[in-house]
Amino acid sequence: MTVSHHFFDGVDLQALAAQMPTPFYAYSASAIRQRIAALQDTLEGLDARICYAVKANSNTAVLQLMARHGVGADIVSAGELRRSLRAGIEASRIVFSGVGKTEAEIVEALQAGVWKFNVESRDELFLLQQVAGRLGVTAHAAVRINPDVDAGTHEKISTGKQENKFGVSIEEAREWFSLREALPDVRLNGLHAHIGSQILSLEPFRRAMQCMADFARELAAAGHRLRTIDVGGGLGVTYRTGHDRPIAVESYGAVLKEVFTDFPGTLILEPGRWLVAEAGVLLTRAIRVKAAANRTFLVVDAAMNDLLRPAMYEAWHEIVPLHGKQMREVRYDVVGPVCESSDTFGVDRLMPECEAGDLLMITNAGAYGASMSSTYNSRPLTPEVLLDRGRHAVIRRRQTFEEMIAGECMAEAWETA
Ligand SMILES: *Cc1c(COP(=O)(O)O)cnc(C)c1O
Repeated sequence: MTVSHHFFDGVDLQALAAQMPTPFYAYSASAIRQRIAALQDTLEGLDARICYAVKANSNTAVLQLMARHGVGADIVSAGELRRSLRAGIEASRIVFSGVGKTEAEIVEALQAGVWKFNVESRDELFLLQQVAGRLGVTAHAAVRINPDVDAGTHEKISTGKQENKFGVSIEEAREWFSLREALPDVRLNGLHAHIGSQILSLEPFRRAMQCMADFARELAAAGHRLRTIDVGGGLGVTYRTGHDRPIAVESYGAVLKEVFTDFPGTLILEPGRWLVAEAGVLLTRAIRVKAAANRTFLVVDAAMNDLLRPAMYEAWHEIVPLHGKQMREVRYDVVGPVCESSDTFGVDRLMPECEAGDLLMITNAGAYGASMSSTYNSRPLTPEVLLDRGRHAVIRRRQTFEEMIAGECMAEAWETA
């Protein structure tokens, strides 16, 4: 029997899994650094900043990697603010997005001194004014435009269409810029758009950028000087070889340069998935093989609570057995142990035959994997390991049972409000 070893960022995954119980995530620091460098190279010559969308993978060690390479953060909650600051990302490089920022979150972000609020509603704009006035600080804000473009992506990750909850229309935004007197503590000097995620075509990006560039020119003519235009994230990656054809980052950069040639301010990019997705794998072991009428289930020890994308978005992830044995190819439905039929990583996948205990790798799981995980079915949060040129470091250990139930208590202290 030949056992071929699978190396990821110089680390032997079989050897690693022999030390650490599965399931766990492994991320390649080198792969993340390569993506950062590729994007930075593309932006060479532009006044542009990268603010990594923290929600894609919010592990503090991953954020620290971003910080060390000059990457800022795009956050959507106070939790992400605290993580980013703790990881060493300066507040002056943090932009705050999201439709539901609470007053407490706005207070915290203003006190921390974040760079910019991407404001999504008139109500939020006035709340920002109120809080900034009370704290005696100036809030810098951008209006999130909903450019009404179809990003051609899964409906659950499309955010730039009129019917989506995100952003406001150009007409609404135009009114905001005439409210200067009512907003003495808010500098509304930016535009923002984020039209969706896992976008594989340049056209929707071009349309959204063009929409902002046109509006920026209109505003400039009316005497409103914009400091920033934030083009959001959304760059897609390859989940399925030969099926997904991502945009070359150079082409994306070329469109940015072309559309914003006459824009005198700073461009902001908020990539999440593109920086980390392909840098991560989820390692799991087969628990058993279950034969049923017409299909065979390969039951693995990872589940939808660890990696929700297949259940939530019908997402495809490659599933690669790492047993290294020369086995005939068979068809499996690869499923987890959770009590939901959607707890399925792959249907009818042709792969080398497996048996209980075999190691498998679910690829391209670095984005929206661990960050979307839960303890559903009382399964503790999965560990994460960072790999870097032959070495590895645990960056989140497995949650213990006690930690999982730490906040719970029996209903004994009954009170009346
Ligand atoms: C989620 C999100 C991003 C990142 O999207 P990706 O597709 O992961 O690049 C960027 N900006 C905003 C406002 C987001 O909500």
